[in-house]
Amino acid sequence: MKDNKPASTALMALENKYGANNYHPLPVVLDRGEGVFVWDVEGNKYYDFLSAYSAVNQGHCHPKIINTLVEQAKKLTLTSRAFYNSRLGEFERFVTNYFGYEKVLPMNTGAEAVETALKLCRKWSYEKKELAENTAQIVVCENNFHGRTTTIVSFSVDPDAYTNYGPFTPGFIVIPYNDVVALEKVLNENKNIAGFLVEPIQGEAGAYVPDDGYLSKCYELCNQHNVLFIADEVQTGIARTGKLLACDYENVHPDILILGKALSGGVYPVSAVLSSAEIMDVFHPGQHGSTFGGNPLAAAIAISALEVIKDEKLAENAHALGQIFRTEMRKVCDNSHLASFVRGKGLLNALVINNEGHKNLAWDICLKLLENGLLAKPTHMNIIRFAPPLVITKEQLLDCLGVISRTIAEFES
Ligand SMILES: *Cc1c(COP(=O)(O)O)cnc(C)c1O
Repeated sequence: MKDNKPASTALMALENKYGANNYHPLPVVLDRGEGVFVWDVEGNKYYDFLSAYSAVNQGHCHPKIINTLVEQAKKLTLTSRAFYNSRLGEFERFVTNYFGYEKVLPMNTGAEAVETALKLCRKWSYEKKELAENTAQIVVCENNFHGRTTTIVSFSVDPDAYTNYGPFTPGFIVIPYNDVVALEKVLNENKNIAGFLVEPIQGEAGAYVPDDGYLSKCYELCNQHNVLFIADEVQTGIARTGKLLACDYENVHPDILILGKALSGGVYPVSAVLSSAEIMDVFHPGQHGSTFGGNPLAAAIAISALEVIKDEKLAENAHALGQIFRTEMRKVCDNSHLASFVRGKGLLNALVINNEGHKNLAWDICLKLLENGLLAKPTHMNIIRFAPPLVITKEQLLDCLGVISRTIAEFES
């Protein structure tokens, strides 16, 4: 077969030869991005319906955020926290006001922020809740995804995520997701519970949306039992689901809020943990930290990225366009025996594929979508996540819905 993308082929070969094999990318080599679009090295244009797992909510290379990056990078990038820097305090005030918290602890990646939240929760439980040393338990949910560190994979139920990484960190209790009764039971039976860590919508599990009332009931139970409600909004936060936070749908104000991904608009790794002063004040100098956490470049970028969310009303846009997306996709599902159903909130949606008799159908549909100019990635064999940058317009979304329905039609027989 003639190779009509020699530049891409060569670059993929490089990654395959010299890189660790821990990802299985779609065969496209991206070189440039702007808003909802990315271009491959041959210059082909695609709609990006992954948005770097919701890190690029503000669109690729948003001019305001990039300008902040460039200006700050010319001035000062990293001081470490051995000194104060001229941007961090401003960011800390901005982000705490923005999300309604008293204190923030800045980190870099989502997994680091989750680790920070777990350490914070444990420390709080010994020093404020007065649990006996090394007895604290944190309740987590089945099919969670909270990152890749050794501790975090200790409570994953995905064999790919945990196999052969033991011995694992103890102190976690896994209960079913979207099951208030299971939480109530464990809180009643076990007096050593420090926190409940939950994704308001399970992103990696395939945009799995819990029942209405789930979060608020869990939050209430946690309050009653003096257990910290910890929301991992690394993927659902920052306008993705049609509100600033997915917890906002149920007026839940988590005791500990974990943010990452779109906190920088995909420009730089920035994550954060927010909480009350009472909780955060259990940390004292030397007890936690990060060389890059809270650096002036990150601080400046994050302020810009959060300003873009409000300036451009991206939560409102995600809310309105998400409704159109699901309505139109439901029509596709009604007329298809391969597209089973669609679920999601805002612009975090997933299409569940009937892959009986064609195990790799979701992957093959994604290959065909790529050919047709739209990038999406399967998760869990039979689910395709659709999560475009939130700057997408209605016209662009309708265009994409056409691409998706025509592509699925190519597989119907
Ligand atoms: C992506 C993600 C993380 C981990 O973030 P990294 O930056 O990859 O470490 C944690 N929690 C959730 C819900 C995520 O989607």
